[in-house]
Amino acid sequence: MEAKQREDRIQKDHDQPRILCFSFHVQGHLNPILQFCKRLASKGLKVTLVTTTSSTTTTPNFIQTQATSSINVTIISDGIEEGKKRSAATSYPDDYYECYDIFAPQSLSEFIQKQLTSDHPPNFLVYDSVTPWCFDVAKRFGIDSAPFFTQSWAVNSIYYNLCQGRFKIPLEETAVVSIPSMPPLKLNDLPSFLDGTDSYPTLLKWVLSRFSNIEQPKWLFCNTFDKLEDEVVKWMASKFPVKNIGPTIPSMYLDKRLQNDKDYGLSLFKQSTDTCMTWLDSKETGSVVYVSFGSLASLEQEQAEEVAWGLKRSNCNFLWVVRETETSKLPKNFSDETSEKGLIVSWCPQLEVLTHKSVGCFMTHCGWNSTLEALCLGVPMVAMPQWSDQPTNSKIVEDVWQVGVRVRVNEKGIVTREEIEACIREVMEGEKSEDLRRNSEKWKELAKEAVDEGGSSDRNIDEFVAKIMCSSL
Ligand code: UDP
Repeated sequence: MEAKQREDRIQKDHDQPRILCFSFHVQGHLNPILQFCKRLASKGLKVTLVTTTSSTTTTPNFIQTQATSSINVTIISDGIEEGKKRSAATSYPDDYYECYDIFAPQSLSEFIQKQLTSDHPPNFLVYDSVTPWCFDVAKRFGIDSAPFFTQSWAVNSIYYNLCQGRFKIPLEETAVVSIPSMPPLKLNDLPSFLDGTDSYPTLLKWVLSRFSNIEQPKWLFCNTFDKLEDEVVKWMASKFPVKNIGPTIPSMYLDKRLQNDKDYGLSLFKQSTDTCMTWLDSKETGSVVYVSFGSLASLEQEQAEEVAWGLKRSNCNFLWVVRETETSKLPKNFSDETSEKGLIVSWCPQLEVLTHKSVGCFMTHCGWNSTLEALCLGVPMVAMPQWSDQPTNSKIVEDVWQVGVRVRVNEKGIVTREEIEACIREVMEGEKSEDLRRNSEKWKELAKEAVDEGGSSDRNIDEFVAKIMCSSL
């Protein structure tokens, strides 16, 4: 490139307002925040995604692809190593989150300070809603900021109503919770942290902390779209400046306006793309059950075995993602015994898998990203929630959007092989099968419309970009 052209390019880059987006370092948060970054970059902002890492074994190296070329990715320390040196016990999750909330703000402050003295200082910080302290960090440097919610408004509003004292925990086992603009919720429809067992007090405190300063930001971004959660969105929007910008699925699966955007592009796991795609190519249309419980959930040994035997009993082809840390829970010789029908991999390109013509249903833990992906790609679900927001997502999948069936647990809390077999058969070929598919197609179209030019999410992004452009003049 000629020197003059190079200079012009640098000047042009510097004329673009610059924003920082901070994400908690798990796959289910990185994916949607990263996608928001790409949308903002496509509309003329210079974007840096900031996340953290520690040398704990839970955070392996990131694998980055071309799909992230429009943004900068910066990784700062979350201080876990430093915390370990100071306190002998860094147990997960208690010490971990305490440590994170002490050291990550320091790292982010140092990073922002450096950026402010650079030749292209940032104008705004978008931050993960689970790190509400970012608001004060940004404010100290005179920067405006706004949270990004990676979970649904249904779930956010449950937590919000709890904070407001509309209901109290622990709840009776037979309790039914009434929340404005939501169907009545039984105990097993609520996020698992509210199930009365108090099994994750630290995480509950952490997820509720997002409402500690919710009155302050001028924007609340969320990975959802207006029509998907119509009533609860209207209710939350009557109180807060809600701006839905999702679904944050790579553009080439929806509106196809960002040519380079074919995958998320920042992975914590190494995926077996060729193995999966070649195997799927060899299977008949609609014959495969795709099974994944996401990046964090860990099945009990007995539950993993029931899933295995349930898949075998269904007699369907199956592609099952079993992360490396989980493989020891599979029944002995299971992969060999089922190699005619099944493929087990440690991670896969989920979007490519879900769009493959051989896939007929998705047996999912109903993490919010997986739920949206299935919905946007028109794949009906067998919902098998594990923890966190997943029970609520499953409830909505089955009862509100009617795009899947939810498994029932037995008196020991286990989903039996018979139940798994029955749910798979129902979605693949049962009475409800046609309706589920029709509903899935409907949501797929509405999702595309939301992110396409002039759609509700697209307009919200435009409005934000225009505001940033104006304020940076
Ligand atoms: N995912 C993937 N390959 C896999 C399993 C999952 O790429 O084999 C992606 C999936 O597409 C989704 C994310 O990992 O975007 C998981 O996020 P989700 O919210 O569904 O669940 P979590 O991992 O947070 O429980």
